[in-house]
Parts: sequence; C-alpha cells; structure tokens
Amino acid sequence: MTETPDWPQPIDGTVTPRFAAPPSFMRLPVRATAEGLDIAILGLPFDGATTNRPGARHGPRELRSASTLMRRVHPVSLVAPARLCRIADCGDAPVNPVDVMATLAHVEACVARLCAGGACLLGAGGDHLMSLPVLRGMARAAPGRGPLGMVHFDAHSDTSDVYYGTSRFTHGTPFRRAVEEGLLDPRRIVQIGIRGSLYEASDMDWAREAGLRILTMEDCEELGPDAVAAEARRVVGDRPCYLSFDIDCLDPAFAPGTGTPEAGGFTPREAMRMLRGLRGLNLVGGDVVEVSPPHDSAGITAIAGATMMFEILCLLAETRGRLAEAKSPGA
Ligand code: MN
Ligand code: MN
Repeated sequence: MTETPDWPQPIDGTVTPRFAAPPSFMRLPVRATAEGLDIAILGLPFDGATTNRPGARHGPRELRSASTLMRRVHPVSLVAPARLCRIADCGDAPVNPVDVMATLAHVEACVARLCAGGACLLGAGGDHLMSLPVLRGMARAAPGRGPLGMVHFDAHSDTSDVYYGTSRFTHGTPFRRAVEEGLLDPRRIVQIGIRGSLYEASDMDWAREAGLRILTMEDCEELGPDAVAAEARRVVGDRPCYLSFDIDCLDPAFAPGTGTPEAGGFTPREAMRMLRGLRGLNLVGGDVVEVSPPHDSAGITAIAGATMMFEILCLLAETRGRLAEAKSPGA
C-alpha cells in the first residue's frame, strides 16, 4: 500500500532502514490536525504530577524513537494498522511543565480538538495524570457517549484522593477523579497487576467500594494471562472502553525507566499475551504512560513501551476497521 494524501503510511523499512530518518510514532507522517484520521497518536510530555521519580516528560521522544523499530504487521493477528485505518503522529500536546492545572486544560483542549472529527486517540506519556485530560477531551468530543469502561494495567490503582494534604491532581489520583467526573463507569473498570506496599491497609477501599474489579499480581499469577484477559473482557463488556497501560505494571527488570518501580511485575511477554487476549473489545482510545528515560538502561523501557503501543494500536485499528466495514458493507 502506497502513501496517498488522504491515507498516511509509515516509512517503508525495506527501503529506508529503521534507524534512518527523523523519528515519529511508528514512522507515520506527522500531522498538525486529525482531519480525516481514524486514529491520532499524541505525545503527552508532562511529569509535573509525579509523586516519586520524575522524568516521564521525556517519554514521548524516546517512545517515538523506539517505535521506529516496529514493522507494519502484527506477528500474530496479522493486523497492519496503517492499512486498516488512517493514522498519523499528531505531535505533542501543549504543556506547561510548572503548572499542573494549566497543563490539564491544554491537554484536554488538544484532545477534544483532535477527536472532534471522530478520531480515536493513542496517547504516549508522560505521567499517569495525563490519562485524565485525555478522558476529559474525548468526552467533550463525543457528548452523549456516556462513561467509558477501562482496562488498566498498572502496579498501582491510581485511585487515591489527595496527596501531601492538598493535591487532588497527581499521577496517583487520575481514575478517582475520572470516576467522580462521570468519565469512567467504576463497574466497568478492571485493574490488572496491582502490587507493592501500601501507605495504609485501607488504600484501596474506595476503589473496591466503588465497584472496580482489582486483579492484584497474586490474582494474576493464580489466573494466568488468558484468564485475566477473559475477566477483563467480561468486566468491560461490549460498550466503549479505554485502555491505559502504565509501564510500571512490568517488572523493573524489563522497565526500570519509570517513576514508581515495583518489584514482582509482569514480563513483557505476559503483558503482550494479555493485550492480545483483548481483541474484539470496543476500544475508543488508549495510552502508554510513565516511561521515564532518565531512569532507563539501554532504552529497554522505551522499547517495551513502544511495543505495548504497537499492540494497543493494532487493537484500536482492528476495532475501527471493523466498525468502518459495518458502516459501508461491500466497500
Ligand atoms: Mn499509574
Ligand atoms: Mn503505576
């Protein structure tokens, strides 16, 4: 398939080697708008809501670079996302590195603009607070769609209320805010890989009482990846949902470059198997967050992050491609 003005294609790695040419997400063209696109990929270069090690503001650039390793076709599903859907790298959302509230407003407005024409969004963080303005922007672009379900891979529940006495907007609080704001349906959220020491035994009480399905690492070990994916599909059901992938769900051996590492995590292979088990979900957006290049070694976290982005992009493209086919039978 060759590039046309209205159907962007990645740079062909059999012509221009993958190490060559300026990097963009998945080697796709960079576009200032999402006009005519099915999926917009957006960098979210902000880490001002990090409560531990910073550095995720540098994530999008390294994810772009590592994503040039991705070829066109998924090795198992054989999905070629850029053949099914019109996809481009829409650059980075505007941020103010020293102002959390201004950044929330900037990112929300950017996402609302990109999604206004019906495009799905794949975000690349940035700290996990960035999922909140993405969800707000997507909701603004699709009024009446109602709260989304969510499949959430993370070592942490990210449903705390307040940090340090006054801070309601941190990378440990986005999904509590999103539920309070009606952006997410708590009964259609599944959290996968939760582990690590707690501040208090009651840390996850709010989430459990709100109805979130929490699969701790112990649960995941007991169930195995295929049953975890099946449970995730059961919880979110057929209605529209979001997929958020915090790279710290992986073990620090495979993802040291992150803000809040927790020993005892998934291998990339387990995570990929679970993601591949989510084919057929009604995905409308997703993100990979918390890649912190200053804490990375040999780029391994960025490679894992870009690989997860490719897996999620294939899921999104397959969903969008199926919906487009259903709208225009025989086309
Ligand atoms: Mn997180
Ligand atoms: Mn986390």
